[in-house]
Parts: sequence; structure tokens; C-alpha cells
Amino acid sequence: MAGEREFLEVDVLIIGAGPAGLATAIRLAQLMEQHNSEVDSGLRSGEKFSTENICVLEKGKEIGAHLLSGAVLDPRALRELLPEFEGDFSGKISTCSPVRRDAVYFLTEKDSWKLPVNPPFLNNHGNYIVSLNRLGEWLGQKLEAMGVTIFTGFSGTEMLYEEGRIVGVRTGDKGINRQGEHKSNFQSGYDINAKVTILAEGPRGSLAKQLILEKRLDNGCNPQVYALGIKELWEVPEGSIEPGTVMHTAGWPLNLSQYGGGWLYALPQGIVSIGLVCGLDYTDPVFDPQEAFQLFKTHPLFRKILEQGRLLRYGAKTIPEGGWFALPKLATDGVMLVGDCAGFVNSRRLKGIHLAIKSGMLAAETAFDALRKNDFSEGQLADYAIRVERSWIKEELWPVRNYHQALEKGLFRGSLHVAMQMLSGGRGLHERYSNRPGHERLQKLQNGSNPPKKIRFSPDGKLTFDKQLDVYHSATKHDEDQPSHLIITDTNICSERCTAEYGNPCQYFCPAAVYEIVEEKEGLSKVHLNPSNCVHCKTCDIMDPYQIITWVPPEGGGGPNYQNS
Ligand code: SF4
Repeated sequence: MAGEREFLEVDVLIIGAGPAGLATAIRLAQLMEQHNSEVDSGLRSGEKFSTENICVLEKGKEIGAHLLSGAVLDPRALRELLPEFEGDFSGKISTCSPVRRDAVYFLTEKDSWKLPVNPPFLNNHGNYIVSLNRLGEWLGQKLEAMGVTIFTGFSGTEMLYEEGRIVGVRTGDKGINRQGEHKSNFQSGYDINAKVTILAEGPRGSLAKQLILEKRLDNGCNPQVYALGIKELWEVPEGSIEPGTVMHTAGWPLNLSQYGGGWLYALPQGIVSIGLVCGLDYTDPVFDPQEAFQLFKTHPLFRKILEQGRLLRYGAKTIPEGGWFALPKLATDGVMLVGDCAGFVNSRRLKGIHLAIKSGMLAAETAFDALRKNDFSEGQLADYAIRVERSWIKEELWPVRNYHQALEKGLFRGSLHVAMQMLSGGRGLHERYSNRPGHERLQKLQNGSNPPKKIRFSPDGKLTFDKQLDVYHSATKHDEDQPSHLIITDTNICSERCTAEYGNPCQYFCPAAVYEIVEEKEGLSKVHLNPSNCVHCKTCDIMDPYQIITWVPPEGGGGPNYQNS
């Protein structure tokens, strides 16, 4: 009823229907079904479980709507979870192709050099180029068939605590206007109480951020560092490029001190995924990742593939790159963290989907044991971290534990470190390399005034686009009459300090033109927000030099629609 908060009780609540959250729910439902059939056949005693008591909350309008990745999938975890994947998904969905050709290039502005041999960690033989959006939809259908409760268009806005332990999540209110007043369609959020809550929100999850801070789950960890991936999906004439082609690049348009690189993946029917990843630990405050990506497409290597094609979709997403030493404590009383939200990404292999799925499966097995023992304490849920330690996740991430830290030193020095790490099982010169949060590396302007932009660029509207046109192709939509979901705690810092010290980098790093700096009287500037443009990448929450921007979920259902991305 409007105005009254309703309650729901479930066994396990999963926040986020990305690969980690969906895998958690599927594995848990599988374990419950297996348990129930063993109880029915007398092989096991005890109560039966209902898969309806697994609840998945997804902020997107539909499962898959907010899912975006390159993506080349290592199918290892998916084969373990759903052995039918190969026949059922990869053989039938047009936005999926086995990798057939794999090449790595170093780029300068006009030239490219193909590496004679791919580094072993970039060998994608046996992997699949997929649309993460379609993979999410397919996993969602599996979940529905298993009877799991799924609420789409609902975001978790607050963790619920009882005597210090997590007992669930409150969902966001709906129907509040820009001034914070109730509209005629006002509906209070729900309190969803759960024995175990699993956060699978993706990179820089807003609940995970609160929880990690509150419970100090990152004590003793390296700070998490992120990259921003910007992607476009194109349709090109069939025959322009062989389906199954994977191209990765280093170098231009990034400078040699920047972390990142580009990709182009070719799917069947002339569909091409192209994108650029930029480490969110760059130093130049006026660097603009979306602009750099537009330049990237003009390289002769890509221009010839794209110039007869057309843009279908645009999107942006951050990627946690910190690796093993940046993983927070994975569980505390009543709650676990999985997938990108915890930081399970192998940045050397440029892959995280398989780790997200596997971490979800291990969290599900831990949650199932906890349900059987009726024990949801930190001590019981700590089994999840032990399972991760004993799994192939640790085997894969331990040898790359110092990878991103090495590349903080730039491409050439970093490559030497990486080579030493490869020879020493990931150690390099020290057992553990430290790093700084990315925003701390941003350098102040030299003379206190905004310098000319380093990259001068005018989009042509055919191959290259401005942010507004790109945002249009993200299909992002929000109800305009709602409070801003970008909270700036002190806008005076923006106009008084940031303008002089950094030149307001938010107007450059946001890939969706949400932040505009408008001149007011007497030369003073003010930040103007266009929250409706937001594609939920979280870059502003991460990269703001004063850490005064907080991204909170907008009204459920708002955001991009990454169909086929
Ligand atoms: Fe990304 Fe923040 Fe811009 Fe939204 S406002 S698109 S989260 S940088």
C-alpha cells in the first residue's frame, strides 16, 4: 500500500542480476533441488527448501538491460554451472561466436605493429565472443524456470542491520519528485529481510561501498583501482571482417604512462564490438576517455572495418583492476560479496565474467551450507573465502597479483615488471606491490587555469560521435522528475577549488555528459547535472579528486538498455 513499508522474508537475497548474481541464484537453486529430491527419495533427512525463497533484485527494467562488457568469455565456470551452455547458448544465439583469430597490435597514430606471437595470457583459443546482455537474458530464463523470485526495476538502497549483522536490504522508494516530495504514484520501498544477503552489484556497488566502509572490510588490502571501458556496437557489411576475430591493442591514443588498451571483436552477421579501456589512474585532469575512444576508431586499422557500417549501441562501465591484494574480506555476519563488486577480475587476461560466475557458485554453496546449519554468522560464511582460496580462482589470480601495480609505472617499465612477474610466478621484485587509489594520481593544473584540451577533435557524425549522440545510443532513460542520483556533498568545492585546481575533470571523465560546468556572473562557475543521461558506469564516484560525489541508485528501472551489447 502507498506510504506503508511492506516486508518480505526470504532465505537468500541477491542484489544484482549480472553474471555473478545470476550464477549465485542458479547454483543455489540447483543445490536446493538436489537436496529436495534426496529428501524425497529418503537419501537425506531434513526440511525441504523452496527456490521461491531465493530472491534476486535487479535495478534494470529487465535482466540484462544494464549488462555491458567486451566480451570474450572463458567458458570454464559456465560449463561447470550449466553444462548445456555450449549447445543451448553458443550454438543458438546469433550474438555469440567461438574465437577463430586472435591478434595483438601496438598502435601509433598512423601505424600498427602486429605482435608475431600473442602473449600466452591473451590467447583466446577455446573462448567465445559473447553479448553479455544476451548471456544475462539466457541465465535469467534458466532462473525463472527454476522458480526463483526475481524483482526487476528495484534497487537496493540501504543495508538493513540488526545488532550489527546484516539482515537484508531496503529497496528505493518510487514516485518522489525532484524536490523530494511524494508524487501521486508514490510507493514506499520494501524491506526484504534475508538470512543471507549476497551483494552482486557489479563494480563499485553502492551497497558494497557502504558495507566495506562500515565494516572496514578492506583493512589491510590494497586500495581498489578501476578502469573505464567504453564500447560501441556496430553493424558493418558482412564480409568486412571474419566472425570470431579478436583484436587487442596497446598504445595510441593512450600515452605510454597510461594503463589501458583497445579491442575489436567480430560477431556473426556483421556485428562488431569495439571499445577502449582507460585506467582510472591517469594524471591529466582534462583527459576525456570518450573522446580518446572516438579517436581510437579513426585509426586506419579500424576505420577500414567501420566506415561502411553504422552505430547500433553505446555504453560505458568501470572494471575493478586491483586484483588479489585489493579483494576485501568477502563475508561478514549475514552477507557475502561476489563478482566485480568484490573485485574478481583477471586484468592481465582482460577477463572477469568467468570469475564472477565461479565466485557466485562458491557463495551459493556457502549459503546453502549455512541454511542447512541455520547459522549465518561471520564464522560460518567465512567458508566462502576458504572455498575461493581452494578454487581455481586463486590459482588464476595469484600469479597476476602484482600485475596492475606494475603497470602503474607506464607501459615500457611496467612491461619489464610484468615479464619478471611471469618468470617468478607473479612475484617480480617484491612479494607484494602496493598502489594508490587512482584519483590520487590526478595532477593539479600548473597555473590554476584550465589549459586547452590535449586532444582536439571534432566528431564527424559518421565514424565518430559526440557524447550526446553516443548517450542516445545507450538508450538510457530515467524519470526526469526525481531527485538527482548523483550526490555532491559540497558544490562550493566544485566551483571554488576544483575549477582552479583541476579544471573540473568531471566534465571530461563522465562518458555521458552528465556534468556541465556553466559560467555564472563574475567569472564564477557552477556544476549543472544532467542525471537522465547517466549510464551507471560509476566513474564519477571513483575518479572525483575530492571524493565528494556519491552515485546512489536512481528510481528502479531507470538506466541504460544495453540490448545485444
Ligand atoms: Fe558514469 Fe557518473 Fe557519468 Fe553516470 S554520472 S555516466 S555514473 S560518470
